[in-house]
Formats: sequence, C-alpha cells, structure tokens
Amino acid sequence: MTARILVVDDIPANVKLLEARLVAEYFDVLTAGDGYQALAICERNQVDLVLLDIMMPGMDGFEVCERLKANPKTSHIPVVMVTALDQSADRVRGLKAGADDFLTKPVNDLQLISRVKSLLRLKTLSDELRIRAETAQTMGIDELLRTGEGRGDESGQVLLVDGRANSQERIIKALKPIADVSAISDPQAALFEASETPFELVIVNANFDNYDPLRLCSQLRSLERTRFLPILIITEQGDDDMVIRALELGVNDYIVRPVDPNELVARSLTQMRRKRYNDRLRASVKQTIELAVTDPLTGLSNRRYLDNHLSTLFNRSMARGRPLSVLITDIDRFKQVNDTYGHDAGDDVLREFARRIRSTVRGADLACRYGGEEFVVVMPDTSPEVAAAVAERLRSVVETVPFLLKSTGQELNVTASFGISSRISSILTPGQLMKQADLALYEAKTGGRNRVVAAA
Ligand code: GH3
Ligand code: MG
Ligand code: MG
Repeated sequence: MTARILVVDDIPANVKLLEARLVAEYFDVLTAGDGYQALAICERNQVDLVLLDIMMPGMDGFEVCERLKANPKTSHIPVVMVTALDQSADRVRGLKAGADDFLTKPVNDLQLISRVKSLLRLKTLSDELRIRAETAQTMGIDELLRTGEGRGDESGQVLLVDGRANSQERIIKALKPIADVSAISDPQAALFEASETPFELVIVNANFDNYDPLRLCSQLRSLERTRFLPILIITEQGDDDMVIRALELGVNDYIVRPVDPNELVARSLTQMRRKRYNDRLRASVKQTIELAVTDPLTGLSNRRYLDNHLSTLFNRSMARGRPLSVLITDIDRFKQVNDTYGHDAGDDVLREFARRIRSTVRGADLACRYGGEEFVVVMPDTSPEVAAAVAERLRSVVETVPFLLKSTGQELNVTASFGISSRISSILTPGQLMKQADLALYEAKTGGRNRVVAAA
C-alpha cells in the first residue's frame, strides 16, 4: 500500500516542490493551502503523514499540529514541521506542540525521503498495534491514551553512550529537567547495560575514536530485550551518510552537533512518550491474547487453548516416546447446587474447585475448564499409574474438605468423578485420547460417582 502524505503550505510553489519530490518516490500526495483545510482533510481522509509549514496566515503550523494531536481521530498521524533555517526556537516549539520531526528549508532531498520513510515505518507498527487493541475491545484506545497522561513528563530513564567526558557532562546537564541519565563510554558495556536495565531511550553520541557507533545501534536493534528501545544518535554536521545508514538500521532520530540543549530535550521527550504509548499498546494486545485463552470465571485456560495446546503436547510425547496422560473431571450433581443455593453459589463452587485443581497438579500440567462443570488436566511425562494417583488425590481433596459458599457463608459437601487415559500405541490422535478419558468418566458416573476410572 502506498503511503498518503499531506503537504501543507500557503505558498503554492513550496507545495509543488515537495509534491514533485514525493510523487517521484511513489507516494500518494494530498495538498492544502492553509491550516483549516489541512485539519478538514485529516478528519476525512486516511492520511499517513503531514508535512506542515509553520508560517501561514490564519492558523499557523503550531496550532494545526496541536489540534491534530489533540483530536483522537488524528493524534496518531506523524507530523513533520517545515521550518526556516536556523530557527531553533521554532523547532523546539514545534516538538512541544507534538510534532514528530522537522525539516529545514530549503528541504534537503535525502533528509526529506529518509525521515518520511522512517516515520512511516514507525507508524505502520503503531497502527498495527492500535488496530489489534481496538478490535480486542479490552481497553479502549482513548482510555489507553488517558492512562498515559501525566506520565508523559515523569523523569525518564536514559542511557547515554558517549566516548567523551566533557560532552557527557553537557548532555546530562541539558537533560536534567526531564531524565535520569546513566552515562557510559564503553559501547560493549552499554549494550549489556541496555539489556539489563529498563531504559526508555538510548542516546548514542557518534564521537568514538576507534569504534563505529552504528555497530552498537545495530546490536541494540537485534537483541530481543532492546528491540523496541528508541535510539537517538548525535552526529557531525554534514555527515548525511551516517544519518541515512542509521535511519535504515532503525535508529529513531538524530541530532546534529553542536547540540542545541532545547532540541535535545524536545527530541528525547518525543521518543520517550512514543515508547510509553507503544508499550501500553503492546501490553494491551498481550492482555487481549491472554483473555482469549483464559476462562474468566476460574482463571484456568479455556477449551480453545486446550484444543490447540493438546496437539502440541501430544506430538511432542509421540516424537520423544514419552508418556502423556489426561484427566477429565466433572462435578457430581452440580445442577442441584445451582437449584438449591443459586447460580452465584454454583460459581463459588466452580472457582474453589478450579483452585483445588491448580494447587494439586504440577506446574508443567495444563489445567483447563473444558465446559460448565467439567475440567481437564493434561499431564506430560506422566504414566497411567501416576495419573491415577493424581486423580485419586484430587478426588480426595474435593471430598474431604467442604466448600465454603462466599455468597451465603454456608459449607457444602462436593464430590466429583474422574476419567483418565494415557497415550498408548493404539492411540494415534489427541481426539482419541480425550475420547478414552471421556468414556472412563462416563463409567465413573454410571458406576456411582465420586470415583476414578482409568480407560481400559
Ligand atoms: P452429574 O453428576 O451427572 O454430572 O450431574 P450434574 O447435575 O453435575 O450434571 P448436568 O450436566 O445435568 O448439570 C450441569 C450443571 O452445571 C447445569 C448447568 O446449569 C451448570 N453450570 C454450567 N456452567 C455453569 C456456570 O458457569 N456457573 C454455574 N453456577 N453453573 C453452571
Ligand atoms: Mg456434573
Ligand atoms: Mg456435566
């Protein structure tokens, strides 16, 4: 899919220039001559990135940016401010207004394309997470964004990798209002630190005598634990090659020497905010996945998870020639509990029953709620004899200690029936294994309940 870029400038010649360069790179380009038009286009169309002029009559670029970032429908669109050369105050104001980056006029071709591409890459990742979190409906995106508020300006944790003591000092001082900075001059030690400590940003000052700083950047990107850690690199003026290679490696942003302390603060803040936002999205996606495989009443795995995971465990047991047993248990006369004490009391019993299963089986066993008052435990590396002993222990744990009904304070005697089966040579599929356990359970029920039956 081609990315769609909106170019906003009140001078038509400027619009034409940027449009031509972007079209040459096969981007889909929309244009706007003022801030109002820009906001309207972003509301109505799917825009992937905005290139925004600052000096415009009516509404200036800062205000457009603030409005885009304040609107939940458009706040995720990256904004690149286009500023006049040497207006460092403008850049800082732009980043404070929520801009993701800026370019200086006249716009350098390489910078334009590399920055646009790197922001679009980032947006693709955020979009994907955003869509998953939305679909999941576990936590609305608005709520996610709100939980982030107030956290945005908390002191950040920054790792500074810098070969020189005097520049370390200057950077620590500049970042003092927004971050606790740990400075390190040895890149290999820095890599170790970064994977051990939960930093929110790494700043790499490219000022080493005998070391290519991009090596560190590339290692940070490839390590599992630092893959999502933002990297800001500080480079020599005019070293475009290094900047381009750095952005290609996945470095998130760069700043050119001499370092303007305001710009450093603003860019660091942007990176840390974005990381916190993406971390929250990722956590929400993870939570969603957990919810999808967990039974809400008991907290055990659900049937969907069992169906998937049992085949994995079954195949592994076949491949390694190791035993595998399953246990199915069903609470006896459970309908009577509901009928006599009410549905809430029934739920109390189910929760307590699940708790007893969990505390009776090993950590390596998989316990699930299979249906209403039916539970399954899958036991890897477990022989039929051991499985029978586990089932008997569980049966006794249920029978011996009465169940407390939280809703009424009453105590209730509960029993359950058990069927067990183990993988033997005639059983070739997980389905057959479950079927055998189910038949055994049926036998336990018809044989009088409160007992364990092993498949023939
Ligand atoms: P048996 O000994 O033959 O297993 O008898 P039973 O009464 O336990 O079996 P039956 O299958 O007739 O009834 C199961 C009951 O479990 C019926 C259903 O209302 C109840 N049930 C299923 N899911 C839940 C639940 O989530 N909460 C509560 N409270 N009850 C549930
Ligand atoms: Mg039952
Ligand atoms: Mg039943």
